[in-house]
Amino acid sequence: MSTPPSLQVTAIPAFADNYLWLIHDQQHAAVVDPGDAAPIEDALRSRGLKLTAILLTHHHADHAGGVAELLSNWSVPVFGPAGEKIPGISRPLHEDDVVDLPSPALRLKVLDVPGHTAGHIAYVADAQNWLFCGDTLFAGGCGRLFEGTPGQMTQSLAKLAALPDDTLVYCAHEYTLSNLRFAVAAEPDNADLAARFAQVEQQRARGESTVPSTIGLEKRTNPFLRYREPSVLRTLRATGRVANDDPIASFAALREWKNGFR
Ligand code: ZN
Ligand code: FE
Repeated sequence: MSTPPSLQVTAIPAFADNYLWLIHDQQHAAVVDPGDAAPIEDALRSRGLKLTAILLTHHHADHAGGVAELLSNWSVPVFGPAGEKIPGISRPLHEDDVVDLPSPALRLKVLDVPGHTAGHIAYVADAQNWLFCGDTLFAGGCGRLFEGTPGQMTQSLAKLAALPDDTLVYCAHEYTLSNLRFAVAAEPDNADLAARFAQVEQQRARGESTVPSTIGLEKRTNPFLRYREPSVLRTLRATGRVANDDPIASFAALREWKNGFR
C-alpha cells in the first residue's frame, strides 16, 4: 500500500490584497478563486505542477476573472455555485454536494453561504480541517453585503462557526489589520482581541501574511461572530447604533458601522 501524497495549500498573492489558493500534492494542483491567471500559471510552472481543477466561491472578478485564460491552457473541470452565472462553470454545486478530486486526492463538502453575493458557496475539507470561504468570513471580519441580507449572512457565518475550532480559515483577502482595528473599536475590553491586534500589527509590519486563521480564533476575536456577546452589544448601545438586543439588528448595525469605519 502506498500512502497518498500529502497535500499542501499555497497562497498566490494577486492584485492589491487577494490570496488565490493552490492546493497541491507536488504534482497536481487545484486552484480556488483564480481572479488572475498569470500568477497561477507562474506558480504552476515554477513548481512543476499540472492544473487539474478550478474551484470558485462566487462571481466577483477578483475571484473568477482568470478562469477563461486558464481554460485556454488546461482542460479541467470548473466547480462553482449553481446559484450564480459564471462563464466557464462545468460542475455547478449546491449545498451538501461533495467534490471528490482524484488528484490532488481531496474531498470537499459544499456549504451555501449567501450574504456577500446571493449564491456564494464555501468548501470544507473535513479530513484536513480546511475551509475555503472566499469573501464570506475574513480574518477578523466578514464580507460586505452586496447581494444578501444581514439575516442570510448571520446564518452563513453560523455554519462556518460550527466547524471545528482548529479548522484553518483560507479566506480570499489580506484585510486582517483593518478588520481588527474595527474589532477593537467594537469590543475594546476583549483581551484575546487586543493580543491578536498587537500580533497582526507586527506581522504586517514585517510584510507577513495573517491568513489562514482558525475558527477558534475567529470565535474569540471576530465581532461578526460575536454580535450577540454582551461586550459588543454594550458598544452598539452606548454609541446609539441599536436600541435593543435583537441579534439581526445588532449584526446589521455592526456591518453598517464597519462600512463607514476609517
Ligand atoms: Zn467578492
Ligand atoms: Fe474579493
